[in-house]
Amino acid sequence: MDLYINGEWREARSGARFDVRDPADGSTIDSVADASEVDALDALDAAVAAQAGWAATPPRQRGEILRRAFEAITEQADDFAKLISLEMGKPLAEAKGEVAYGAEFFRWFAEEAVRITGTWLTNPAGGSRLVTMRQPVGPCLLITPWNFPLAMGTRKIGPAIAAGCTMIVKPAELTPLTMLKLAEVLHDVGLPAGVLNVITTHHSPVVSAALMADDRLRKVSFTGSTVVGKILVKQSADKLQRVSMELGGNAPFLVFEDADVDAAVDGAMIAKMRNMGEACTAANRFLVHASVADEFAEKLGARMSALTVGRGQDEGTDVGPLIDDKAVTSVTGLVADAVSDGARLVVGGTTLDGPGHFYPPTVLVDVPAGARINREEIFGPVAPITIFHTDEEALARANDSEYGLASYFYTADLDRALRIAEGLEYGMVGINSGLLSNPAAPFGGMKASGFGREGGFDGIDEYLETKYVGISTS
Ligand code: NAD
Repeated sequence: MDLYINGEWREARSGARFDVRDPADGSTIDSVADASEVDALDALDAAVAAQAGWAATPPRQRGEILRRAFEAITEQADDFAKLISLEMGKPLAEAKGEVAYGAEFFRWFAEEAVRITGTWLTNPAGGSRLVTMRQPVGPCLLITPWNFPLAMGTRKIGPAIAAGCTMIVKPAELTPLTMLKLAEVLHDVGLPAGVLNVITTHHSPVVSAALMADDRLRKVSFTGSTVVGKILVKQSADKLQRVSMELGGNAPFLVFEDADVDAAVDGAMIAKMRNMGEACTAANRFLVHASVADEFAEKLGARMSALTVGRGQDEGTDVGPLIDDKAVTSVTGLVADAVSDGARLVVGGTTLDGPGHFYPPTVLVDVPAGARINREEIFGPVAPITIFHTDEEALARANDSEYGLASYFYTADLDRALRIAEGLEYGMVGINSGLLSNPAAPFGGMKASGFGREGGFDGIDEYLETKYVGISTS
């Protein structure tokens, strides 16, 4: 498939292409155009040319395009799910879940497009009126990761379209096909040429640097690793572009002594195993009160060992392959280090035969609090369990991370729930729940997990400037 620039499909100017592979067996699924800086600047030209007209398009029209796209994605849900599963590896049922979640951002922001408001105030000192209006930021660069190839895109494209911004989307090179299919949908439902441009490339650093060196680009919204996020924030300083950063996580999952352990295990399965653990919201550290730790570990181990590992599209698969060899090597190293630090394997931990990048569901107990697996993002199906004795210790351990994205805890005590929710240094807190993602809620983090919010009432703010107009009155 080709680049989508100014409403047309075209090859990279160099003619270069790269292959997209199935992570289950390494076979080639398709090839896509490999954009260079020149193609990226063509896309920026198109976005800049379309900006004024798009900003002036009535909000209802912008919203109705999103609404039609929501309906088209929903009608083609099975095709989207197959493609996501094929290029990313997740089981079909999960891919269908991502399609429903991803499409919902378009429905939500279709409704938000017509609710962009301003304010009117009489100057407290008299003599003037103070008026504010909200206007689109301007052309945006939207960079997405491979783990949710549809939803991480719609979460940015939806509010950008609703706000009246034009954009260049750069999907992850490992999973570009879903984004290209989404561009087809938006084209077919009548999104004007130039509003959305999609460039696939194997040269993300140079392409994004070229775009960000251009004064006409006004905003960068990035979802991906903290390492790359920091590079982009530094890069944005030259032209002072607005930035939104949805970065890595290291979610604590706390189980207090009064928790319903069965419910906590149900929640843990979702918080850990959604997307094979390859989610920024994935429970990374299980902190369990000493009095319920054995029961929790045993029940979680039983549930994890009952999962079927296989190709995402195969009937009955619960756990697909990891994205690539590097991911398997990284998870294997974290588990090996934990074991050498004194942790014990309850289930899993063995390398699976290839082809494909599979890793088995794994539970570790007696993991020392300072183990590397407790400090780094695992991004795989591994649950390390560490015990605690007091609420103070649990909270201090939970907050002992550079990250601050998602957190979860289970308790039946309302006072404790409020105290812990207020004390957690995380952008999102799940109480007696293992699933936080919801298009109607503000998704985002603190600390090294970034800044800005996607979804909810806040999501559109990332794409709007506030302009103040002072009107003198007699
Ligand atoms: P990554 O940072 O390697 O890549 C993300 C995107 O950035 C890709 O499109 C990649 O091509 C591009 N990229 C890489 N280097 C770049 C550079 N120098 N300049 C511009 N673009 C560059 O991350 P990944 O491996 O694709 O995704 C996994 C990471 O994403 C994890 O850390 C995960 O926690 C995070 N993530 C965060 C959220 C969130 O909402 N906070 C959601 C999903 C994933």
